Amino acid sequence: MKECLFCKIANKEIPSEFLYEDDKVVAFKDIDPQAPVHILIIPKAHYDSILDIVDKEGDLVGHIHKVATKLAKDWGVAEKGFRLVNNCGEDGGQSVKHLHYHLLGGRNLQWPPG
Ligand code: 5GP
Repeated sequence: MKECLFCKIANKEIPSEFLYEDDKVVAFKDIDPQAPVHILIIPKAHYDSILDIVDKEGDLVGHIHKVATKLAKDWGVAEKGFRLVNNCGEDGGQSVKHLHYHLLGGRNLQWPPG
């Protein structure tokens, strides 16, 4: 989508350091990290939110989970634990309307979230 920040990052209109890239997704550090490891994993294709994922894209979500576990291992948080978060909609705390998952780790994360 033309004016979408994460589309611009994914298609390299906004230069970013990718920690991972393949034909479906990219991953990069969150600009305002909430944990020592805070990585965003996003599809290259635009979906406003997880609500836009329908059956035919089911593999995409599984793929994002696989990429997240690879990154958790690469960034040394797999053993002690990490959190994979998708915020959806206003009450869910979603501020960027392009589907994304937060990979958070490197500290003892509290529950419930605020
Ligand atoms: P949400 O609140 O929608 O779940 O998460 C959006 C995330 O995107 C936030 O954690 C925010 O810090 C991050 N973010 C917003 N703008 C940028 C940006 O331009 N670059 C990067 N790397 N992260 C961003």
